[in-house]
Amino acid sequence: MLISLLVPCYNEEEALPFLYEALGKVLGECPQYEFELIFVNDGSRDKTLSLLKDLASKDSRVHYISFSRNFGKEAAMYAGLSAAKGEWVGLLDADMQDPPSLLPQMFEMLEKDECDIVATRRVSRKGEPPIRSWFARRFYHLINRFTDVEIVDGARDFRVMRRPVVDAILSLGERQRFSKGIFAWVGFRTKWLEFENVERIAGETKWSFWKLFRYAIEGIVSFTTAPLRIATFTGFFLSFAAFAYLVYYFIHAIIYRIWDKVAGYPSLLSFMLFIGGMVLMALGVIGEYLAKTYIEVKRRPLYVIAEDNKKEEGEKK
Ligand code: UDP
Ligand code: MG
Repeated sequence: MLISLLVPCYNEEEALPFLYEALGKVLGECPQYEFELIFVNDGSRDKTLSLLKDLASKDSRVHYISFSRNFGKEAAMYAGLSAAKGEWVGLLDADMQDPPSLLPQMFEMLEKDECDIVATRRVSRKGEPPIRSWFARRFYHLINRFTDVEIVDGARDFRVMRRPVVDAILSLGERQRFSKGIFAWVGFRTKWLEFENVERIAGETKWSFWKLFRYAIEGIVSFTTAPLRIATFTGFFLSFAAFAYLVYYFIHAIIYRIWDKVAGYPSLLSFMLFIGGMVLMALGVIGEYLAKTYIEVKRRPLYVIAEDNKKEEGEKK
């Protein structure tokens, strides 16, 4: 039986040799399976591509796909999943933060037919800046509260899945992909393996704080329209409060006969600013969804492939 292992790589020249070695060891431990190793080079600016070419020339199991520029990890995973021919497909990072040594155990769990997906989560976030962990926890709290998919805190993309799961994931044709949500959305029997956070072996993280923040917004907008509803409710509540205040003030003015006095600039100003802010925020929320719709409607491809060492003629787009 063929197992595809796919690895998105973006500027991973330092980590790749370690990964390849570790994978080689794991594959040696599982002689009952055949393997293909799919490396997706996501527009790296370093020597990642030439390293991959090197590996491919020595090892016929190595399949590399190289993008014309950096399209992001989500696109790289999609490209890898579409290219995978295996009955089972495994997904792991290039930096050894997803320990390949867990793979044999994951295969065993699938073999015993305990589940369709063996996924992993890290139980600690040690070695990560505390503020980043805090934001991450807030994010999981929010997204689980407002969406119907359950996204597990600390869940990694590191997983092995059966063919039907892969096909289901590929059938979700959205352009802006939020894998953590997509994995949860497709369902199937999932078992979780837990492991301690491992720091990347070499090189540095490709995620800036800002990139992560955008990713979080992306995740929420992709899987729930609750923020739109919140905008509606807030608007409704504010109008109601404004109306109540108006009635109150009207009666107050009649009772105390204060209509010839001009007063209350500060309160007026603060109310206007507050409501102005709410209006802008609601517009921003609508804008997020509109932008998303706009991008989906264009139906651009997720990525452009510049090179592929195993592409068959006439097959695939
Ligand atoms: N990655 C990618 N394209 C990108 C960013 C990252 O293919 O634009 C890959 C990267 O090479 C690695 C994986 O995604 O294999 C996870 O990236 P990283 O380790 O930087 O993320 P972190 O572990 O810090 O979340
Ligand atoms: Mg990493």
